[in-house]
Amino acid sequence: MAQYVGYANVRAWKEHTCLTCGTEFRYRIERSRTFRTTNPEAAQPGAHNLALKAIAEHSEQRPCPHCGLYQPEMIGAKRRTKYLWLLVFTVAWAILFTILCEAHAFQYDALCWLAMLAGVINFLVQYIAVSGNANRDMARNRKAAKNLIDEERLELVEAGSGPILKSVPLSVAGMGTAWVFLIVALAVFPLAEVKRRVSGWSYNENWYPPVAGPGDVSRYYFKQKVESMRGYWRGVASVKPVNVEKLGLGEHDQFFAATKSELWSNRIWTEAVEDYVLTTIYIDVSFPQGQKLDGTTVDLRLQVDGDAPMVHSRTTYDVVRFKSADDISIKLSAPNAGKQYEAHWWGGIMLGFFLQFIAALTLFHKASAQLKGLPTRIDPIEETPDSA
Ligand SMILES: [Zn+2]
Repeated sequence: MAQYVGYANVRAWKEHTCLTCGTEFRYRIERSRTFRTTNPEAAQPGAHNLALKAIAEHSEQRPCPHCGLYQPEMIGAKRRTKYLWLLVFTVAWAILFTILCEAHAFQYDALCWLAMLAGVINFLVQYIAVSGNANRDMARNRKAAKNLIDEERLELVEAGSGPILKSVPLSVAGMGTAWVFLIVALAVFPLAEVKRRVSGWSYNENWYPPVAGPGDVSRYYFKQKVESMRGYWRGVASVKPVNVEKLGLGEHDQFFAATKSELWSNRIWTEAVEDYVLTTIYIDVSFPQGQKLDGTTVDLRLQVDGDAPMVHSRTTYDVVRFKSADDISIKLSAPNAGKQYEAHWWGGIMLGFFLQFIAALTLFHKASAQLKGLPTRIDPIEETPDSA
């Protein structure tokens, strides 16, 4: 079906009545909009209506020429834009942060402190966004209005008789809950680290999660990396406790190891490209159940024997074999401490982000709803219709 695009540029006088002194003043405002439809008759009027709607909803930043007040809708529009950006940044940061976590790009403890630091910055930015007050110095605003009149960007229609104030404070009513949410978010981000310190669990660098106890599974990354097509690799993993006698482990106290077992051989021909990715080799170690290992340091010999594809052309590929091995110690904590640490970690982070999101949403809504001025009048000046 044919698409018709209407375009309209509308110019109008927008007249405000000042909220404090009752002065009527006006300025020229211009908005253009396009409108897409399948009906050729509706294209241009549609665009015209959209442009008129934009003029009704938007205001220019023009202080009252008599008392200097920037009207609530002018401040509201500015504030709402600020809060919309804060809302967008809050969501984008939460997504980026989750990706960093999933990729094990940083240690767990570093990440929760990072979330907290970002929370402090978020709080300060929100606070500054609210406390900026365009009506703090009304004498300065009157001077600005005089300049705008000289530049023919503002006109006094009829002076009012209301009071001329020195300064008008900004309304922050109803925003208290948002501040409380932002502060509580700071406290819940490091929940896992608080729980770990209170419970006396040991922290093991380079393990994900860094806390492990009997019955837990934790991942260790070898220093060695392998380069392969699309980052494909697979391996067979093994784990051997070296100080088994000292630990007094029996036959039933088995450690298990697992690693990636990707079935890439079937896919390789359809995806054959010279697309090499460097990947870190990892091993997932399961610790045996039971109280016995609580608080002990286990020396482990970890090994992965693997292979990875290297494609040379559409018809040939090599399989590169590799072997990663490390001797590493891990200090175990109470049974299932790792699962609890991880649950607290994600719980704290997600709750923190949720609170930040709700706070930003609340502030946005307040800015939209609270700052409404007196009704305005719109007188269109001329039109330049154009449709294609
Ligand atoms: Zn005024």
